[in-house]
Amino acid sequence: MQNITILGATGSIGVSTLDVIARHPDKYRVHALTAHRQVEALAAQCERFRPDVAVVGTEEGADALRGLLREKGLDTQVACGEKALCDAASGPGCDTVMAAIVGAAGLPPTLAAARAGKKVLLANKEALVMSGQLFMDAVAESNAVLLPIDSEHNAIFQCLPQGYGRDPAEHGIARILLTASGGPFLNRDVATLAEVTPEEAVAHPKWVMGRKISVDSATMMNKGLEVIEAHWLFGAPAEQIEVVIHPQSIIHSMVSYVDGSVLAQLGNPDMRTPIAHALAYPERIASGVAQISLTKMGQLAFFEPNFDRFPCLKLAYQALSAGGTAPTILNAANEVAVDAFLCGKIGFRMIDQLIDKVLNRLPSGAAGSIEAVLEQDRRARDAAAVLIS
Ligand code: NAD
Ligand code: MG
Repeated sequence: MQNITILGATGSIGVSTLDVIARHPDKYRVHALTAHRQVEALAAQCERFRPDVAVVGTEEGADALRGLLREKGLDTQVACGEKALCDAASGPGCDTVMAAIVGAAGLPPTLAAARAGKKVLLANKEALVMSGQLFMDAVAESNAVLLPIDSEHNAIFQCLPQGYGRDPAEHGIARILLTASGGPFLNRDVATLAEVTPEEAVAHPKWVMGRKISVDSATMMNKGLEVIEAHWLFGAPAEQIEVVIHPQSIIHSMVSYVDGSVLAQLGNPDMRTPIAHALAYPERIASGVAQISLTKMGQLAFFEPNFDRFPCLKLAYQALSAGGTAPTILNAANEVAVDAFLCGKIGFRMIDQLIDKVLNRLPSGAAGSIEAVLEQDRRARDAAAVLIS
């Protein structure tokens, strides 16, 4: 029996994770569930999955949750704040942590899970983008098991040889081919992108996801963050990570080898597949996802991405090449910009312009400690906020 903590249980990934877990009550038990503000949704999840612990963002939220749980006659322990998140992710009550908080807020508990040597199922790509080397060092030092949930990275993981040790050359790997759907604006006239509304930006053609990652998919910053994520997970330099636009989202990514072989992972676009893969690894369990029908799915297309349409992708490659805290700055500026766009404070094209300006204004430093990374994250957020106002 695996005891699971789900960080971000009320989000898109959290709900899909609970859907898979509910199919296998003999294998998985929920230790802790966390949410930021969605107290009622969390209370309903507690009623169904009976966790030991539930964590929310604020004291008021915790009081409200305690009241709801009392009405339901549940004895789930309720806590709030960052330390409680870290305890739920690193304490002796859990073996496996699904890291599915969105954004930089997920770094402290995800890192706590890694330091405690847990099995870490990583959806929260921002945590790894911010703290790359430090996070991977923590995993290595504690012997944590790190399994990617991002569908592309999960696909790549499945296409790599067993025992892969983050050295592409040692295993005859030529390139990592990261597929991208291209998002909702792949074919829209570039001249009209400035007028895009938040509702248009979050309407992804293939995936149902949280609002932040949906906007990231529309700008293709999501793919940029994934290039950086692939660099840290698989030890490949930027030049060996190629983005390929594949609008059908059937091939979730590929690995090409020096002998000319290309291995791909295919499936319907449903996050329950990578979630089930990582939960059960190295075994396989049912996920609830239907099999693809090769004869019915029609043609698969592949294109090169256009940096004029998707400048965020270029900014991410540049930040990865610059190294140090440049990816931390990129991520922080992007989070502030996306939030401002979703609140109607800035236009869609201002997202990439803002990130570019913040990257130019703030010198990237050494990412030598988590404190230095968090300080750089704060500075980048401040710089972005000043530019917006
Ligand atoms: P979401 O917005 O649907 O859910 C986010 C979850 O995090 C919620 O439970 C929310 O309560 C919690 N949360 C938000 N802010 C918080 C804070 N400050 N402190 C603590 N908890 C907080 O997001 P999502 O789409 O489920 O994405 C989660 C993560 O997984 C992101 O990093 C995203 O990039 C990654 N991811 C998502 C998908 C997908 O299909 N949704 C695919 C690949 C990767
Ligand atoms: Mg992805």
